[in-house]
Amino acid sequence: MNPDIASGSMDHQLTLTGIVERAERFHAGQAVISRRPSGAVSRTTFGACASRARRLAAALRSLGVGVGDRVATLMWNQSEHLELYFAVPAMGAVIHTLNPRLFPDELGFIVNDAGDTVIVVDESLLEVFESFRATRDFAHIIVVNHSGEAAGTLDYETLLAHAEPVEWSALDERQPAAMCYTSGTTGRPKGVVYSHRALVLHSLVSALPDQLAVSARDTVLPVVPMFHANAWGLPYAAALAGARLVLPGPRLDPESVLDLCANEHVTMTAGVPTVWMGMLAALDAEPDRWKLPELDRLIVGGAAVPQSMFEGFDRHGLTVVQAWGMTETAPLGAVCRLPEHLDTGGQDERYGYRTRQGVASPFVEIRARDDNGETIAWDDAAMGELEVRGPWVTGSYHGGRGAENFTDDGWFRTGDVVRIDPHGCIRICDRSKDLVKSGGEWISSVDLENQLMSHPSVAQAAVIAVPDDRWGERPLAVVVLRDNATASPEELRDHLAEEFAKWQLPDRVEFVAALPCSATGKFKKSELRTMFATA
Ligand code: AMP
Repeated sequence: MNPDIASGSMDHQLTLTGIVERAERFHAGQAVISRRPSGAVSRTTFGACASRARRLAAALRSLGVGVGDRVATLMWNQSEHLELYFAVPAMGAVIHTLNPRLFPDELGFIVNDAGDTVIVVDESLLEVFESFRATRDFAHIIVVNHSGEAAGTLDYETLLAHAEPVEWSALDERQPAAMCYTSGTTGRPKGVVYSHRALVLHSLVSALPDQLAVSARDTVLPVVPMFHANAWGLPYAAALAGARLVLPGPRLDPESVLDLCANEHVTMTAGVPTVWMGMLAALDAEPDRWKLPELDRLIVGGAAVPQSMFEGFDRHGLTVVQAWGMTETAPLGAVCRLPEHLDTGGQDERYGYRTRQGVASPFVEIRARDDNGETIAWDDAAMGELEVRGPWVTGSYHGGRGAENFTDDGWFRTGDVVRIDPHGCIRICDRSKDLVKSGGEWISSVDLENQLMSHPSVAQAAVIAVPDDRWGERPLAVVVLRDNATASPEELRDHLAEEFAKWQLPDRVEFVAALPCSATGKFKKSELRTMFATA
């Protein structure tokens, strides 16, 4: 540092409290709309959510929640979840969103690994909660939309009614604000902990015009759940920008989503390809049923977007924009916006570009390295594993697990194999991580294989992802039986069902005499994919 000059800029902390206060002060009247499990729609505002968040924080404090304590949520996209998104980080605690689709055993592991002290559950998810409740001694269980029947629980509304609003205290921007678990290739899910600074910078950048473009003129419908990578950060970006927020609850069938888009004049929505596949089929079947003149863009990510989806929505005058990201990147990592020079390009060239995963978002640095550890050229030919670093990219997992996902020089290894064009636009070609992504949710091939191989009749098993029109990918198990042993596909699926949720079970089980192996003794999954992908 040169002693002659010092920065005069204030050292102002970038905390989510700034977003919550802005929503309360400047966007107080902006609507927050929730579709309830019953289908009824309830309406509130950012102002009401932010002022209720002050009372919620007081209530949580009186229950003993302090700085750094983890408050778990088992909820849909609903206004109370937004209140928790506001209150928990702003009071210095950490909001931990739980995915209700996980198997009870996984949820039990996750709440214990995170050390959750209090859990807030929507009444419609009490059955899921009961399935893992015994695994952890929660200090308090709070129920939203409570009919008062669950023993040993507190009612969310009663707590709020008896609390006095708090004034927010100053926080350090590097304090943890939120956490979310992601499935690993093998072993248990790993916790990603986001700092205030990471989420504030993520909100600012995702609101930029060539990123997700969130403005006060928008009505944003995150179909992506608030328990999956913070609904891609959209609740915070909408609160920051002052966009109307439409929260769809659990009803994500195409008709319900299209009804919401039409009735609430949604301008922007976001979710995984599986959801949009269904919407496209519904639109194709009844093109005149929904009037969507305001719907300006559908942000689609979480899995590759096929060209047929771009073409299909183009036919209805709706624009799909592909984005790439991960739980570990908070999640925005890249967005694919058509460059201006392609406005006049040919159809094929435009679709060729739009099916790519896009250009890294500002402040997200990318590189890719080949099997020899050499950084690949950006020539759109060489392939390597994508590595990223940046202010909202995780630098470690909770508890220091998964160290192998980070390089010695501080980059995060994504497990996505890419080509990069000379302008830095990524195309995902393969995946080095051994996982199946079905309907936007991960299934660990390795865990399925281990469970299959624990069956007395199974000698070897390999699980591969095969393309599926509806879910993007589905798991397929290839099994070698022990000599003279027998087992039916149903028997093996029953054996898997002891450890896995129904949607995680392979649809197909194929029996072979031997599995193809590489020189190092690993199963050659690429060969299996060629054998079975289209069979
Ligand atoms: P998650 O942490 O569950 O959000 O999953 C992140 C992973 O999803 C990435 O590492 C990719 O493998 C995959 N993914 C996300 N977005 C895309 C995309 N646009 N195209 C292809 N794969 C994607």
